[in-house]
Amino acid sequence: MIGAVGGLLLAAAAFELRNGGSSRVREKERVEAHRALAWLGRQLQAVEDRSKEQSEMFQTLPDLVRQMFSATGKRPMYPVVVKLVDLFFRPAQIAIFVAVPSERKLRLVEGVGLPETLGKSAVLEYGQGRLGHVAECRMTMDEADFQNVTTITRLQLEASVIPGLRADVVAPIVYDEELLGVISVGGAAARNDYEKRLLKMVADLTASALVHVRQLKSSQEMANMDGLTETYNKRYLQSRINEDLKKAEAANGALSLMILDIDHFKHYNDTNGHIEGDEVLKRIGAILKAASRDDTDVVVRYGGEEFVILFPGASKAIALRQAEHIRHAVETHPFKHAARQPLGAVTISGGVASFPEDGKNSVAVLRAADQALYEAKAAGRNRIITASATYVVT
Ligand code: GH3
Ligand code: MG
Ligand code: MG
Repeated sequence: MIGAVGGLLLAAAAFELRNGGSSRVREKERVEAHRALAWLGRQLQAVEDRSKEQSEMFQTLPDLVRQMFSATGKRPMYPVVVKLVDLFFRPAQIAIFVAVPSERKLRLVEGVGLPETLGKSAVLEYGQGRLGHVAECRMTMDEADFQNVTTITRLQLEASVIPGLRADVVAPIVYDEELLGVISVGGAAARNDYEKRLLKMVADLTASALVHVRQLKSSQEMANMDGLTETYNKRYLQSRINEDLKKAEAANGALSLMILDIDHFKHYNDTNGHIEGDEVLKRIGAILKAASRDDTDVVVRYGGEEFVILFPGASKAIALRQAEHIRHAVETHPFKHAARQPLGAVTISGGVASFPEDGKNSVAVLRAADQALYEAKAAGRNRIITASATYVVT
């Protein structure tokens, strides 16, 4: 379209020149006409470039927004926000900081073209420099706004300037009064009158995407949890165990697990009531979590009064030691009605099995552990037995 209009204009100008005849058109006019034509050509080119840029923008934008709203640990959101800012501003510098409200600090999570003073995970205080100021006042600000502040604020800004950081426009990432972070842009290639609105729009989009992803994550986590014991549920175990088995297989490593069952639990319920029984389940959930390694072990309520603990990467010997530790922790816990139990304490029995020696898949390993648990019950309870029949008698 623009090409066609340009072509027409050029043709019209050429027609004028030709028909003017060299005698009637003086040299000066010819030069001016050429200059005008060149200017027109440049204008057309600029319009064409802008239109190309805009069409690229409209093509990329929906995809970037989609990526922001479907961010996960594996596909993080902040690099997408950087792409979005880059699309709009083509700036020399972009900085995204997340807020740590409890410490009144901002932590750098993503940046482009930043000075060395802002290394990976750099931290700023609220109130420090332009970004810290925006974190405090929660308003999008541009150069004019930063010049327009009170003398005291200006002095504060100057005193706490971050060397080398160009922060021409800064927007807070806010959702429902909660400050989530700050985005700053410096040295934009394309300057325009609506930079502030544009960056505010990016910041608002980021805030919505962050909250959306956070809510999604928490509802997914809820769906994976057992409400009573606050441990994972069977549904989660099924996907997690397969994931961990794949990792173990790929790394030529091990994976062990324990199935445990509360001893004489029916007796506890019958003697003390279901509500007291529930209390035991809750406490056992807490004991299992406290006794297991936070960052690796996975505690699951497998059924009514049965639990599974995954020990990713652990050999059978390590898992057995861990299982013994857990059994002992339950046995020695002062449960309210422990003395009324047949063994004089609330106890558990457990079976331990490992990949690859007891099974090549999750079903086989679980079955082997279940078989060992059965043996532990038959052998008198309050004990752990491994799938290869290594007895640890108490
Ligand atoms: P064993 O030592 O052989 O495991 O004996 P047990 O009495 O523990 O085994 P059994 O399978 O006979 O009983 C399990 C009991 O667990 C029966 C059921 O009422 C109780 N139970 C299962 N889920 C819950 C629950 O959510 N709350 C309460 N209070 N009890 C539960
Ligand atoms: Mg049972
Ligand atoms: Mg039982």
